Order: sequence, then structure tokens, then C-alpha cells
Amino acid sequence: MPTQWESLANEHILGIAPYEPGKPIEELERELGIHNAIKLASNENPLPPSDRVQRAILAALNHLNRYPDGSGFYLRQALAKKHGASPDQIVLGNGSNELIELLVRAFLRPGDEAVVPHPSFVVYPMIVQAAGGVRVMVMLKEHRLDLEAMARAITPMTKVVFIANPNNPTATIVTADEVERFMTRVPERTIVVFDEAYIEFALGPDFPDTLNYVKQGRKVAVLRTFSKAASLAGLRVGYGVADADAIALMNRIRQPFNVNSLAQAAALAALEDDGHILECVRMIEAGRHFLYDEFKTLGVQYVPARANFILVDVGRSAADIYQKLLHEGVIVRPMTPFGMETALRITVGTPEENRKLVKALRRVLGKQSA
Ligand SMILES: *Cc1c(COP(=O)(O)O)cnc(C)c1O
Repeated sequence: MPTQWESLANEHILGIAPYEPGKPIEELERELGIHNAIKLASNENPLPPSDRVQRAILAALNHLNRYPDGSGFYLRQALAKKHGASPDQIVLGNGSNELIELLVRAFLRPGDEAVVPHPSFVVYPMIVQAAGGVRVMVMLKEHRLDLEAMARAITPMTKVVFIANPNNPTATIVTADEVERFMTRVPERTIVVFDEAYIEFALGPDFPDTLNYVKQGRKVAVLRTFSKAASLAGLRVGYGVADADAIALMNRIRQPFNVNSLAQAAALAALEDDGHILECVRMIEAGRHFLYDEFKTLGVQYVPARANFILVDVGRSAADIYQKLLHEGVIVRPMTPFGMETALRITVGTPEENRKLVKALRRVLGKQSA
């Protein structure tokens, strides 16, 4: 029986499974009677924002009585310069999540199809469904987006295709060659969204330069965020790069003050702070290799990662291992909602956090310490 409120609701949203956010870490510690728990569950950067960024935030505090700059003038200008684009090709969002929503609301008409990889970021199908769009799910192949199958899934009704690169939760990439081949098969009426939230951890000669498709005038939107490599997940700021006409449409439906002033100040400072990003990328890279070695010793299978998280197969109930790790003070993400009953997604932490994870995993899996 629907509740009275449900019978009033926009029917498109009724089929959406509610997002279940985790508990605050302090609450979990209290409930389980543990201390110093570590969170390796949300692919956050384990390092705080740099001093430079923190100073920029402090300086902006004194202006919190004012509304933020609704055009994000300086930040868009700096981003345009960084990417060799024009400021009118850039839109800021309250996290890149908001940009996914703006894209869908601007372009997807009820009944239009969206090609969505699976398993991938759960936000894509959720927002498509809320807009009355049709989700066309395309399974990954060997933990990687199957661009071949995604191209085949495009029909005359396909308005948008989502490509998370690197993909979450597998941390795998699609390469420049694969994307190039895919792009030759995408019709003019279909928009390709490249969600590059983890690009800083993935860069290499094989990684596609998708901004180039924007410059070529293709129907492409590239999404980036300050939430991961730039350590600013809590402030909510991301951006999209696309043709100026596409950006203008997104701006029509954007809330005028969607990105707050602390976020704008912090992001601007972060753009001048490649040192912090480099430090984080190096630390994560070293952490990945440390964890690979330890996983091998523990007999835990893993998917080689091009991001700051690793998909592992513990070979038994992931829900059970997740619970046991919680009691050890380590929070990871079970992949059971994706139907992957033995898989966990583990964010790479600081060296100390990684050691704590390995110790906990060893105990929980019942392995002797080496
Ligand atoms: C973390 C993540 C984002 C970033 O979202 P924000 O709203 O910018 O914090 C975007 N896409 C994917 C696939 C992610 O995993």
C-alpha cells in the first residue's frame, strides 16, 4: 500500500531505491564501543586540504554575510585557463553530482534513453529515473566498461551515455583508443558524459583527452570534481566542460547560488596547488602497491586500480567481512547492493590507515600474522 504522500508523489521517483548514507563515524564508534575507527568507504582523500587552501577558506569566512558570486567568475576563469577553454564552456556545480542532475534535467525528456554502465556510479540511473528517462544498463566486461556493448545499446531514443572513467566501483579505465573507437559510433543526437572524478589518479599515456572532443564540437560533457584528489569533498564543488550552448542551457536551470563562497575560494586556491595533488597521488600510488602485496599474501583477489580505491574479492560473504571489519574499527564498502556478494570496495588511505586495514583484514579472515 502506498502511503498518502506516495500517492501524491511524482510517479517517476517511486521506483527509486532510497540512498542509504552511512552513519557518522563518531556514532558508529559509540555504538560498537571502538575508538579511532578509520573510514575507507567513500573514496575520500585521506589528507586534509593544504595550508594554502585552508588559508583561502579562512580569508573567505569574513564575507559569509554575502551571497556567493553566482557566476563563479574567478573560478571559471581559472578553470578555463587551465583547460584551454573559454569560461562560457564551464559550469560549476555543488559537487559534480549536481552537474549530472543539471545535464539530465536539461536534456533528457521523459521516455528518452540513457545508456548506463553497470556496476557503476549509482547516481546515474537514479537521476535518469527521477527525470522519467529510461535506463539502459550495460554490464561491465571483466570489470571494465564495455564500450563495444554500450555503442550497440545506442538507439534513436538514446539522449545520453554515461562513462565513468575511471569507473566506480571497479577503478578501471577505458583507454584513449577505446574511447576514440566508441566516439566514431556515437550519433550527433546523443550526448556522451565523461565523469572523470578520479582522473588525477589515472593519468597516463593511455588515458583519453576527452576535453579534445569538446574542443572539436562533439556532443560531449566532461565532469571533474574537487572532491577527490583536491581533498575538498566536504565543500561540494565540481565543474563541467562542454560547448557554450550546452552550458547556457544548464545555467538556465541552475540555482543561482549553487556553489558556496567557501567552496569557490578553496577551489581557486586548490588550482594553484599542484603540489598537494601530486603528494596525494604519489601517496595513493604507493598505498595501492602496498595493499596489492598484502592482498596477495592474504589470498584476497583484487582488480588492479587506476583510482584511489580498490575492488577486492574476499571469497566469502562480503556483508559478513564488512561487519567484522566494522568491529575492528575499519569501515569499507560492501558491494552486495550491486549483487557482488563477495566483493568489497576499499578506499586507499594513509600508510597508517592501510596498515590498520591489513591487520584487521588478516584477523577477520583468520590468517596467521606473518
Ligand atoms: C566521487 C565521485 C564523484 C564526485 O562527486 P562530487 O559530487 O563531485 O563529490 C563523481 N563521480 C563518481 C563516479 C564518483 O565516484
